[in-house]
Amino acid sequence: MKRLLVRLAEYLAFSGIAVIALVAVAHISLAGKTSSQSAKKPSAIEPVPALTPFVEEHAHFDEKQPAAAVRAAMAALGRENADMIVFQISPDTFDHPGRYDSEIILSEVKKHPGKLAITGGGGSLNAMIMQSAATGDAGPEVQKKFKARSEELLREGVIGFGEMTAEHFDGLTPYQAVPPDHPLYLLLADLAAEHGVPIDLHMEAVPQDMPLPPDLKSPPNAPRLHANIAAFERFLAHNPRAKIIWAHLGSDFTGFRTVDLDRRLLQAHANLYMEIKTDPDAHGRNYPFATDGKIKPEWLKLFTDFPDRFVIGSDQHYPQPKDADKRWQETILLFNQLPADVRKKIGTENVARIYGNSVAPFLRAAKN
Ligand SMILES: [Zn+2]
Ligand SMILES: [Zn+2]
Repeated sequence: MKRLLVRLAEYLAFSGIAVIALVAVAHISLAGKTSSQSAKKPSAIEPVPALTPFVEEHAHFDEKQPAAAVRAAMAALGRENADMIVFQISPDTFDHPGRYDSEIILSEVKKHPGKLAITGGGGSLNAMIMQSAATGDAGPEVQKKFKARSEELLREGVIGFGEMTAEHFDGLTPYQAVPPDHPLYLLLADLAAEHGVPIDLHMEAVPQDMPLPPDLKSPPNAPRLHANIAAFERFLAHNPRAKIIWAHLGSDFTGFRTVDLDRRLLQAHANLYMEIKTDPDAHGRNYPFATDGKIKPEWLKLFTDFPDRFVIGSDQHYPQPKDADKRWQETILLFNQLPADVRKKIGTENVARIYGNSVAPFLRAAKN
């Protein structure tokens, strides 16, 4: 049965037909079991798990109920066929009420070593960068405090610096923009390289100065966006031993995170990685799916040309919001269409390489 399900998913991978077919087959399989199971109505929201194990490398949690968020994430592992979920901290500013960092959930996460992990700094290091950009002070005192906080987070047990930002539209946290080659970002790259941990960066792509896209409001967003790609390349080049993960590939709200741009940057910078995120509720521009639910050929070519450079980072929140479609599901429907050897790398091997010992020993070997 399981093999049949997997086969079906391979051939029909993403399409609505696949979802219906999988649900139908799953229910046929229950026919001989209890009446309550067989009476269960097929539902379009029945989850389709990953064909092979993966790490959800970019998820969030409800900071007001950390224990419940951890329970929800642990329960999701099996449903999604995920080996591990890595929480990120939303990039925030000092003047935003409710700002928090990894300490708020760290003790709960640590109860599940090898299943859950967390990055840190979104609520502190990122806020320090925004403050430094606003005041113009990136002097020795500021740098000393920044370094101390980075090292404190690592001592506490975070496995990377995230979620940081250089261009972030207003949402759960405020509008934020700063050049990605700000002195504190260069310092962070050096610290990341020194400690062998990655930096997770949320940055809308802005190759040239441009007005805010018309579907976004100003305020709260800035009326004009400043070019950031050249500065991003200086950040990448500053310390080639620093691994930089550019978040949210497939979730582009300026229209400039194109396959061509991603390809050029991957070619130019060996320390650049990207997280794949597809959000069924907010496609943005440059969405990787065609209308028939298949990956567009140019995207598939990008994934297969650079199989060592992508990870799954769907930006799913836990507990999963009831009124939103599942980001993890949409992203996994993309993942399931990848060739088996590429899927294996993007699912677990790349995360193991990027994070090293804090992750690698805990991952199952995918059997394709
Ligand atoms: Zn983000
Ligand atoms: Zn995020």
